[in-house]
Amino acid sequence: MDIDQTKIPQATAKRLPLYHRFLESLYASGKHRVSSSELSEAIKVDSATIRRDFSYFGALGKKGYGYNVNYLLSFFRDTLDHDELTKVALVGVGNLGTAFLNYNFTKSNNTKIVMAFDVDENKIGEVISDVPVYHLDQFKEKISQGIEAAILTVPSNAAQSIADQICDAGIKGILNFTPARLSVPDDVRIHHIDLSVELQSLIYFLRHYPL
Ligand code: ATP
Repeated sequence: MDIDQTKIPQATAKRLPLYHRFLESLYASGKHRVSSSELSEAIKVDSATIRRDFSYFGALGKKGYGYNVNYLLSFFRDTLDHDELTKVALVGVGNLGTAFLNYNFTKSNNTKIVMAFDVDENKIGEVISDVPVYHLDQFKEKISQGIEAAILTVPSNAAQSIADQICDAGIKGILNFTPARLSVPDDVRIHHIDLSVELQSLIYFLRHYPL
């Protein structure tokens, strides 16, 4: 499959894991084709967007047939490196961090937290759901085994200095769960997930834009 992935728009790329997860479940239930309207209903993305996204993947739906599930899955597997295990680190083994270590993403894809870091002596040396907890001072040494991305679940006031430290150590991607807006070098990608903002925004939409 020869698709130039640099041509896929970022908004489309962000929907890839969503498509992938749904198509895997279709495949597991024995379905080999799917229409854009079925997909739209299931994942709540409008069907025009789905058709445009899929055209970037080289998947052309046929009228009355829909999309070939196998083709799409092999495209997603190549694009998302799903045949390879992607290892990530977690910094901050508090309540949220511990929940991520226990969940560990294994059910949905091949991304796994393989090590965690903290500064609390009571947590260092613990192993939570098979994930060892090290002191943050060991970050650079430990992540040299092919870890590019880190999840940040530390208190907001410590987040910027930790982000500086982990970027210096060579981390190229951060999933930031703290409410702090962090500055990182230009070659580091950071995605912010502020759970309380997301919840407030949901409530705002419920109140002001009833369905
Ligand atoms: P807990 O109840 O275990 O403290 P919490 O989620 O309420 O959890 P937070 O204060 O948000 O606690 O801290 C989250 C985690 O981040 C804790 O495990 C804490 O030890 C850790 N932490 C605090 N400062 C740093 C730091 N500078 N570097 C790494 N980890 C840190």
